[in-house]
Amino acid sequence: MKLVTRFAPSPTGRLHLGHAYAALFAAAQAATPAGRFLLRIEDIDATRCRPEFVDYILEDLAWLGLHWDEGPFHQSQRQEIYAIHFGHLQRAGQLYPCFCTPEALTQSRQQQVAAGQPPRYDGRCARLSPQEASRRLDQGEPAAVRFRVQTAATVAFEDLIRGPQRFETGSIGDFVIRRTDGTPAFFFSNAVDDAEMGITHVLRGEDHLSNTPRQILLLEALQLAIPRYGHLPLITGADGAPLSKRNGSQSLAQLRAAGYLPLALVNYLARLGHHLDAPGLLSIDALAAGF
Ligand code: GLU
Repeated sequence: MKLVTRFAPSPTGRLHLGHAYAALFAAAQAATPAGRFLLRIEDIDATRCRPEFVDYILEDLAWLGLHWDEGPFHQSQRQEIYAIHFGHLQRAGQLYPCFCTPEALTQSRQQQVAAGQPPRYDGRCARLSPQEASRRLDQGEPAAVRFRVQTAATVAFEDLIRGPQRFETGSIGDFVIRRTDGTPAFFFSNAVDDAEMGITHVLRGEDHLSNTPRQILLLEALQLAIPRYGHLPLITGADGAPLSKRNGSQSLAQLRAAGYLPLALVNYLARLGHHLDAPGLLSIDALAAGF
């Protein structure tokens, strides 16, 4: 079976254990004769990404002993690809401009939460007439672009780790695929790249679980291949909360400086929430063989 996996970090900071966990399993899953493991740098958001973090990502992965077969690919250099797929959705009438300000969106979200409803876009710009929308665009009013989500459908998929998943589209709401500054939103570039790069299996943190139905809807609309998804549990600190600076999480660089050996970290991560038949300290190849 052809297996193509990837690790897709955003260079907004140093890698931590959660990143290493996702990267390790994605690399282990691809470690078959026909398998490939890709590295993709998700560096579209110029306000948060910094070039030095890209260097640190490569350095940290090399230190861990994780090798990628293809890449690194940089999303910042793939804007034309996103523009082509954006054009397909636009011509199919599945997009509309949204002029809502961040303040208006926050207010609407607060009202929904106060009313005990799931927060989602209330659809006010979906109801603008095409004339009104073009007039406001012509006047240069800043606009994001939203993807129209059908209201009464179900998105179902079989998560590789969590089993069957179902999401009602009514609780998703139309979501932004192009930001006001013209850059593609995460949902869009991430899903398009997985399809364009032939990714068959996406392993990523559970914090992305609610993004998956949106990405499946986009890939369906674009008639692109949908990968299989597996959402890894988040590693928590002693307080039960996901690892963060607040509960003492350290970056891989800090752990390295503290004297931890890479193979020890990798073995620790490989046995966290995952059973391996072989006991003892294993090489990365042996860990991958038992995955
Ligand atoms: N850039 C995203 C992140 O670092 C990628 C998520 C994914 O693996 O799809 O969270």
